[in-house]
Amino acid sequence: MHDLHTHSNYSDGKFLFRMVRAAERAGLDGIGFTDHCNVSPRAGAKDARAARGFNLDRTYERRRRAIDQLREESEIAIYDAVEMDYDSRDEAEIRAFLSAADFDYTIGSVHDVMGTNVQVASAFEDKSTDECTTVVDRYFDQLVALIESELFDIAAHADLLERTPPLRGYATETHYYRVAEAFADSRTIPEINVGRTLSDEILHPGRTFIEILREHDVPFTIGSDSHRPDEVTARADILEDVLWEYDIEPVTSFIPNR
Ligand SMILES: [Zn+2]
Ligand SMILES: [Zn+2]
Repeated sequence: MHDLHTHSNYSDGKFLFRMVRAAERAGLDGIGFTDHCNVSPRAGAKDARAARGFNLDRTYERRRRAIDQLREESEIAIYDAVEMDYDSRDEAEIRAFLSAADFDYTIGSVHDVMGTNVQVASAFEDKSTDECTTVVDRYFDQLVALIESELFDIAAHADLLERTPPLRGYATETHYYRVAEAFADSRTIPEINVGRTLSDEILHPGRTFIEILREHDVPFTIGSDSHRPDEVTARADILEDVLWEYDIEPVTSFIPNR
């Protein structure tokens, strides 16, 4: 089993070597590092990068050197990958960066909608029903654009909004069918993401959404979205349970030399 979605100290996670040791202890066959990266030239995105202090476009070559060293000491596969913020306005910059950086594989994520990260509950607590409906509609518009762009091997946490209590209950089966049809026509593959199964019992995609994707014969990759070594270990068991429950054979065929 390969965990294809984890973070290290090259974004908001713990040291690379500690994450690799945890993957070995968990009995994984491989771990992929998908540190956050945003290459938007827009002013708001530049401010956000300055506030966070990390961005893989500046450090991926250094991380690649570290991954090469870790590969020499480890029996498991270690992948040099990325989780890119996607916004349809940034497609040219994303394409140019991915082509130059040449990662083992790429994940694309819609994190921000209309200038706000959809995981920040406080940003939506005072919004009206109409405003929340618009945010959720725009989120799925961006997700479908991500899938249709085919810029990425994997689309992350397809129903990320479900993490955010004020935005729950707005996504409909119509949204899910639209996304599933886009996946069915794209090389981009959705992931099963267990990053929130322990804290708030949310599996991405949720049960109904998974069934709709399966109706469209869409394959899946798997990822724990771990930021800490203890999460890698705990979530490896959860990933295994989910694969078993849904009888899913995760795909890794898009990774060169896997
Ligand atoms: Zn993400
Ligand atoms: Zn992530």
